[in-house]
Amino acid sequence: MDANQRREIILKHYQNPVHRGLVSDETYRKADTSNESCIDEVHLMAKLENGRIVDLRFDGEACAMCTSSTSLMIQTLIGKTLEEAEVILQQFEAMIEGEEYDANVLEDTIVYDDIAKQPNRKKCVLLPWWGLEKILNEEKEGKQNER
Ligand code: ZN
Repeated sequence: MDANQRREIILKHYQNPVHRGLVSDETYRKADTSNESCIDEVHLMAKLENGRIVDLRFDGEACAMCTSSTSLMIQTLIGKTLEEAEVILQQFEAMIEGEEYDANVLEDTIVYDDIAKQPNRKKCVLLPWWGLEKILNEEKEGKQNER
């Protein structure tokens, strides 16, 4: 993917993020994340059903990188199983941290493959993913407690 394609996808998801707006539904798990080194504040909600992410929504105030990353994460992860989501999450974090990663699982979230060179933007891009990580961990712990 060249720099222009990257910019286009990021801009599209910043201007028209998918699934913006929360719903009042108690069956969703929620996570709030904020980044004190930027304006970013993302409220995330996820509906998990039968081991799958069936819906993800968000709201909040965030910069272009953070908003687009949230939108791309939502687009990529809806419909994925929790195991698949976990793999994508790990690979995405590895990419942002400049480590080795598997590009095949990342779909369009690959647009941030040069962020590792911009340390001050890393947190913006990772913020929504940390929120989702929190939700997935809570789900796992909840499952363990049921046993
Ligand atoms: Zn930011």
